[in-house]
Amino acid sequence: MILARYIGSVCRLCRREGEKLYLKASRCETPKCAIEKRAYPPGQHGQGRIKVSEYGIQLREKQKARRIYGVLEKQFRKYFKIAERKKGVTGENLLQLLEMRFDSVVYRLGFAGSRSAARQMVRHRFFTINGKRVDVPSYIMKKGDVIAPVSKKMETFPIKTALEKMAGKTLPQWLTFDMDKKEGTVQSPASREDVALPIQEQLIVELYSR
Ligand code: SF4
Repeated sequence: MILARYIGSVCRLCRREGEKLYLKASRCETPKCAIEKRAYPPGQHGQGRIKVSEYGIQLREKQKARRIYGVLEKQFRKYFKIAERKKGVTGENLLQLLEMRFDSVVYRLGFAGSRSAARQMVRHRFFTINGKRVDVPSYIMKKGDVIAPVSKKMETFPIKTALEKMAGKTLPQWLTFDMDKKEGTVQSPASREDVALPIQEQLIVELYSR
């Protein structure tokens, strides 16, 4: 059986991209972060000088985006095709689609410290969308969708601690959370400014347009 999902150290992915991708929740802000300790690519030649081609730069940008959102190549290309067909700027459409994934929204609301932790929770059926249990992390949320923890999971450690921390949390402007009802609402699609990630999406568009 071929394992498609990356199961190695996620910190290696940050070192490969040469910047923090925040894949490991709380550890990312501590001196234990691998980028703080070894800010050069992993492997035997990691500290050598490498000349990077234009193609290489575009490829790295795409890999960075894929790694931040934890999306496989095939699915990433699928998002790109959808982004191309949509009205507006393809690169921005692509980032919007990634940002509106169910697991990403769970992370943005603060239910998990990283997108991979959010993905696990979604797969373990922690949440409902508009009252129905959904366990598909790639589900693309839309304006008006309401997300809530299922009542059975309300007393579990990740949900309890997340709810405690949520009180003082500032959410992106396209999301709201009702503390009384314990549910979040997608108020609008995420804009490019809302994504606020160091991704140069134009490089990804150029890569796929080759
Ligand atoms: Fe990346 Fe976080 Fe690991 Fe630092 S601790 S290298 S930011 S995943």
